Amino acid sequence: MTADLVIHGGTIVSPDASYSASIAIKDGVILAIGAADAMPAATETLDATGLHILPGAIDVHVHFRDPGYPQKEDFASGTAAAAFGGVTTVFDMPNTLPTINNAESLADKHRIASAKAYVDYGLYAVLGDDSIDHVDALVEGGIIGFKLYMGNTFGRIPSPSTGGMLEAFEVVAPTGKRISLHAETNSIMERREARLRAAGRTSPIAHLAARPAVVAVEAVERAATLAEWTGARIHVLHISSAAELRPLADAKARGVDITGETCPHYLLLDETDYEKFGGVVRVNPPVREKPNQQPLWDALMDGIVDIIATDHAPHAPDEKTRPDIWTVDCGFPGVETQMPLMLTEINKGRASLNDYVRWSAESPAKIWGLYPRKGTLTPGSDADIAIVDLDRKWTIDDAAIQSTSKISPWHGREATALPIHTLVRGRFVMKDRILQEKARGTGRSVHAIQQMPVPEPRNIDTTMAAITIAQKA
Ligand SMILES: [Zn+2]
Repeated sequence: MTADLVIHGGTIVSPDASYSASIAIKDGVILAIGAADAMPAATETLDATGLHILPGAIDVHVHFRDPGYPQKEDFASGTAAAAFGGVTTVFDMPNTLPTINNAESLADKHRIASAKAYVDYGLYAVLGDDSIDHVDALVEGGIIGFKLYMGNTFGRIPSPSTGGMLEAFEVVAPTGKRISLHAETNSIMERREARLRAAGRTSPIAHLAARPAVVAVEAVERAATLAEWTGARIHVLHISSAAELRPLADAKARGVDITGETCPHYLLLDETDYEKFGGVVRVNPPVREKPNQQPLWDALMDGIVDIIATDHAPHAPDEKTRPDIWTVDCGFPGVETQMPLMLTEINKGRASLNDYVRWSAESPAKIWGLYPRKGTLTPGSDADIAIVDLDRKWTIDDAAIQSTSKISPWHGREATALPIHTLVRGRFVMKDRILQEKARGTGRSVHAIQQMPVPEPRNIDTTMAAITIAQKA
């Protein structure tokens, strides 16, 4: 058998080991891994001498703003940014225009994504008061999971009450889909923000004052209670504080199916960055005080926090630089810089390369039922590969990033690692730091390969089920 591509000379990294080997790819799948002289003949070869070969990152939290906000990003620019960042699968958030909360808007988004994507993707649907009756249709329409906003965010999606959340969990639990939570309690931050605004506070640091960590602690605790009651699977997005780790760890200890992510900006930025970057650093939840950072690293090492994601949330420069912090759009791009930033920290010895591929690839694949098709370099797995140079000094320059949004708090930061080539199912999407234009539109939705066995539902209120059935009739 002739392989399509054999990569020679690199060091392959798995969660357990790093080793020199060649890797053969055929029809988008890894055919063999082993000694160079054991590889089959190949149509094409790539010399990866001196480079490391990682499973492509799976970023379960991006906002590509398509449809609705082309000045911020679209599916082409967003997935091109992913390709440059060694990210081979993204899960895109549903706070677009229109919101993805019914079968029609979901079908439209599938059309948009499949026409433009350079990398594979999953699509989230909103779970809220206006979509609870559409849960089955959304699952049938092909989603990777649900997103529930416990706090209002960009797109003004109303957050459900606790009662609404319980009903939503009851309806989703039997589908097996995981519910990803923006875990910030709206009523707390609304009151804080109103007081700060009334007091005339408009400087960037006031954003942090409006969202103390208790906003997240209370939300995680409450969501875990409802997940435990219903058996619903939940994922806590963008964990920003040390204080949130306790309710997360407690819930895990009780056997709740709860997972968590943190993002590079919570591990690497702190309260001093509001002075440096002003509104550019405004993000929800906020970048917090420095003492939060080490506990988040420790939680990644302990497995209390499972994965690294980015909350890639691009906006146009004028939307990030308004003088009044309360009018600045929240978030900034990150899908392209996550891997270089994290590997720079790995180079400093903060964790091992093996830890990194567990957080960035293996664990997200397992949590969303894509493993071992995705998230691992193993014969039979999709050839989703990031080939990186761990000895490359460079400086992040916003003007040079693929994202339409050329403004971030990473501008000017020194990095020591860089993805050189990215392959999705054996196809180069970025090669020698050049976007492979012909790969546009080759990305596929991964919902078709997702396997999430349905958990044993608990305490599902039969009256509620009857109401839902009656509404459908
Ligand atoms: Zn987000």
